Amino acid sequence: MSLHYPINEIFQTLQGEGCQSGRAAIFVRLQGCPVGCPWCDTRHTWVVTPERQVPAEQVLDRSSQSDGWARMDSQAILHALQQLGYTAKLVVITGGEPCLYDLRPLSGALLEAGYEVQLETSGTQPILIHPAAWVTVSPKVAMKGGFEVLDEALARADEIKHPVAREKHIEELDALLARRCHKPNVQIALQPISQQRQATALAIRTCIERNWRLSAQLHKYLQID
Ligand code: SF4
Repeated sequence: MSLHYPINEIFQTLQGEGCQSGRAAIFVRLQGCPVGCPWCDTRHTWVVTPERQVPAEQVLDRSSQSDGWARMDSQAILHALQQLGYTAKLVVITGGEPCLYDLRPLSGALLEAGYEVQLETSGTQPILIHPAAWVTVSPKVAMKGGFEVLDEALARADEIKHPVAREKHIEELDALLARRCHKPNVQIALQPISQQRQATALAIRTCIERNWRLSAQLHKYLQID
């Protein structure tokens, strides 16, 4: 039996965050997230309620401005990418928190079809994905949902993209790195929360000091999705 995923939206744009920033990318956004970040800009993805389930066509039609979700399996998602005529070779699986689901069938099917796969996750759930996928952990520490960032998620990360606004967020990241479970060559990026001026200044200063990367959320400056 094929695994179905609750899909909130699928769209093509530029990746605006982290190491893959600037690349053409197809975003596959899964519904459902229990983490509860106060600055979350995708709150509409938090709950998977049956009354908000809609047909796949509605989710794929961006002009419908649907805030519902549709059940789709890997083949239906692949078919949708072809039907929509998307040209990007990178597929970003995001959410919500996509690691609520077993992503091995979806990532495997995408890789087999010739796509590169990137995962964006909070690091609070076990990561079930193809070994060839690029994993971006954006650690969400001490959020309302009460989840811990897992050692096994940090260990799988190719990239740790940390949201920062104040010094305490740098200290949180230092504490995660002090666990020493990350890959020696992991890429580290700081992402200013909500483009706040002070957050951006702190992130720039720290990236220069530590030789880290700035994740500027390019899409927000370009005012694209
Ligand atoms: S983990 Fe992501 S989707 Fe979930 S609340 Fe935090 S920012 Fe929002």
